[in-house]
Amino acid sequence: GIGAFLSWNTRMPEATAGGSSNGSPALVGAEPDSADPARGAGTLAGLPFGVKDNIAVQGQPLSCGSRMLAGLQSPYSGTAVERLLSAGAVVVGKTNMDEFGMGSATENSALGETVNPWDSQRVAGGSSGGSAAAVAAGLVPFALGSDTGGSVRQPAGFCGVYGLKPTYGAVSRYGLVAYASSLEVIGVFTRDLELMRTVFSVIRGSDGRDQTTIDWEAVAAELKPAPRRLAFIAGDAGLQPDVARTYGQMRERARDCGYEIQEIDLATLAYAVPAYYTIATAEASANLARYNGVRYGHRPVFAESPVELMRKSRTEGFGDEVKLRIMLGTYVLRSGFQDQFYVRAQRIRTKLYQELASLFSGAQGLVLPVFPSPPFKRGGVELDAFQQKQGDRFTTLANLSGCPACAFPAGTVDGLPIGMQIMGPHGSDERLLDIIAELR
Ligand code: GLN
Repeated sequence: GIGAFLSWNTRMPEATAGGSSNGSPALVGAEPDSADPARGAGTLAGLPFGVKDNIAVQGQPLSCGSRMLAGLQSPYSGTAVERLLSAGAVVVGKTNMDEFGMGSATENSALGETVNPWDSQRVAGGSSGGSAAAVAAGLVPFALGSDTGGSVRQPAGFCGVYGLKPTYGAVSRYGLVAYASSLEVIGVFTRDLELMRTVFSVIRGSDGRDQTTIDWEAVAAELKPAPRRLAFIAGDAGLQPDVARTYGQMRERARDCGYEIQEIDLATLAYAVPAYYTIATAEASANLARYNGVRYGHRPVFAESPVELMRKSRTEGFGDEVKLRIMLGTYVLRSGFQDQFYVRAQRIRTKLYQELASLFSGAQGLVLPVFPSPPFKRGGVELDAFQQKQGDRFTTLANLSGCPACAFPAGTVDGLPIGMQIMGPHGSDERLLDIIAELR
């Protein structure tokens, strides 16, 4: 199998984390809650869906791809899941992911990797690779993921499906395990653009249990009409040739659809990745402080003292990428270093926000690649962990600014899907889907 779904029991491999090269086992029978007739009727009646394993579904595992949370069963469901259930949709399983959302290939999961359904030698993308692969392979018509720095759009692009990262706050994060709270939002994968519209309309809206949620309809209603113009990055933007060619074709396509093309230089593009990894690791170091084996999290077999219990819990429970990021995060937040790293990153974020606000006063959207390369080979042989992070420069723009962005299939090269994305001002989520419907 492609290893998209996690096994029902979410058992951890006994050996050291890393998993088998064949991917994790396929889905084992989840039992939909069919007893409640109220759930049978609705806009999504009977539609099965997958849920990234960092989003709570009552009674199901919530491993976040980590040994740390092995065996945990969620006592409640997140708001987005609740809303989908109320609309009649049925959860069929939890999908694989990079540990706590940290990665670009779904190779950082303690439960094994997910591979690309188009070519099993290549990665599905990450961190929501399980959701993307499950939708691409036709296992489910839609799936939920989370996008903190591209984790919905990049795997969507790699797997040739649609992936929406909504406006920050448009979808409640209640029930989403926190990675970097100021950047992330629950997003949606579909193979069908109309279904994307429907699922988004079901899950969005303010929620008293997440104070960062917005009244999306109100924000969308305030959207100023912008001229029929789309922005594209000028120059080559460091893209691999196949992606550069597809990006160029998309520009021509937009022109053919009657859009005026605006070629721009985004001054903050070069700083997006450093700013993102500074802010994301800082927030992650705080958010992941709660896993110490006391209230929850992996419990070591033996410990001499409470301090040793916590140390062992974190040493044994977290994988290498998570440890790396916790260390980076605590480093950038160290007293005396904040001005040098964290405060600078926040300034870049503000500058980006202003740059985009002025761009979107004169254009409906900015079209970007999702990633500078096509889906890369597994095992870090093409792109190492650092190069994978540098590839996040196009996706992280939307997270740093809170803007909505939607990835869409833009063609195939040598049998591999190439994804593009379009980003717009806050509340323009549906307008972006309209534009994609024209461009595809
Ligand atoms: N590649 C990004 C990272 O590793 C993806 C983050 C995300 O959206 N969860 O941080």
